Amino acid sequence: MSLDPRPSTLDLSIPRHDWTLTEVEALFARPFMDLVFEAATVHRRWFDPSEVQTSQLLSIKTGGCAENCGYCSQSAAFDTGLKAEKLMDATAVIAEAMAAKAGGASRFCMGAAWRELKDRDTPKLATMIAGVKALGLETCATLGMLTADQARQLKDAGLDYYNHNLDTGPDYYADVVTTRTYQDRLDTLEHVRSAGMKTCCGGIVGMGESRRDRAGLLHALAQDDVDGRLKLGRQPVDVGHPTGQQALGLALVARLVCPRAMVRLSAGREGMSAEMQALCFLAGANSIFVGGRLLTTSNPGEDADAALFALLDLRPMALASPPPLGEGDREAVEGASPTGVVWTEPPPSPSLRYGSTSPNGGGLA
Ligand code: SF4
Repeated sequence: MSLDPRPSTLDLSIPRHDWTLTEVEALFARPFMDLVFEAATVHRRWFDPSEVQTSQLLSIKTGGCAENCGYCSQSAAFDTGLKAEKLMDATAVIAEAMAAKAGGASRFCMGAAWRELKDRDTPKLATMIAGVKALGLETCATLGMLTADQARQLKDAGLDYYNHNLDTGPDYYADVVTTRTYQDRLDTLEHVRSAGMKTCCGGIVGMGESRRDRAGLLHALAQDDVDGRLKLGRQPVDVGHPTGQQALGLALVARLVCPRAMVRLSAGREGMSAEMQALCFLAGANSIFVGGRLLTTSNPGEDADAALFALLDLRPMALASPPPLGEGDREAVEGASPTGVVWTEPPPSPSLRYGSTSPNGGGLA
C-alpha cells in the first residue's frame, strides 16, 4: 500500500530529455515537501546518497576578461579592484593540484578568465592538463569559448571535463551578458561533446531572473540529449551562488530533470548553514568545491567541510562516473498539486551589475 494516496502525475523514474519548459516550471511550483521527497527518491535511484563528489578549483589566469558577465569580478567591464594576472606556469599549477589531491579532492579544475582560448596558449595548457592527469586526478578546465580543433587538443592532452556555463535561461541571457550569445555557449558545449569530453554546465541564481528563467536554464540542460544519447548523465550541474532556498529550489528541480547528473553546490556555500546544505544533499546535490579558495572568492576550507561530512555521515566520492542505466530503472515517484517555493534575492553590491556575492565562483568562463 502506498503511503501517499495522491495520484502520480509525472513519472520521474527514468531520465527524460523531452521536458517542456512549462513542465519544468511546474516542478518549481510543486509542494516543497513533495519536491524534497521526489528529488531524494530520484537521487537514491542513481547515486549513493552518502557520497559527495569533491572538486578543487584554481584560477590559473585571473582578471582582465573581455566578456561582460554581469556577476563576475574578473570582467574588465567592471571596476572591481581585481588585478589582472598572467597565465600561471604549468609547474605551479601541477603543484597546486598535488596539494588539492592531498587535501581530498578527486577532480582538479583549472579556470582562466578569457573570452576564448588562444591557440598560442594551448601547448602550455596541454602540459598542465597532462601533469594533473598524471597525478591520478580527474581534470577539468574552463577556458572560455573553444573551436572544435581546440576541444580535440584538450581531450588529447587528458582533459576529462570542460566547464562552460549557460548562466541562466535563454530569455534572460541578454540581461546578464551582451558580449556573446546563448548559441555561442551551446556551440562550444557541442564541440566539447564531439571531442569526447564530458561537460560541466550550470548557472547562477539570484540575478533578478524569474522562476521561468530558472526553469529555462534547467530546461536547456535537460534538452541536451537531443540525439538520444545520455549525455546529460555525464553532465554535472553547477548550482552557483546558492543563497538558501534559491539554490535549494534549483537543486531540487535539477535532480528531477537531470537525474543522472552530478549536481554541485558551487559559490556561496559559505553563506549556507549546515542545515541548508544538509537539505540540499538530501534532495540530490552531490558535488561541492573543496578548499578555501574558489577563483576569486572564499570557500569553506578543508576543516569546515570535514566537520560537515562527519556531522552528516557523508564521504567523498571516489570516482564521479555516471551511474549506468540498467533493467528495472523504473520506479513510481508520487507527486501532486502546485504551490509556491519561496525564493530570496542576494544583497545588492555597488560594483557588479547583479550584486553577486560570489565573484565568478559560480559563473565560470
Ligand atoms: S564569467 Fe568568465 S567569461 Fe564571464 S567575465 Fe567572468 S571570466 Fe570572463
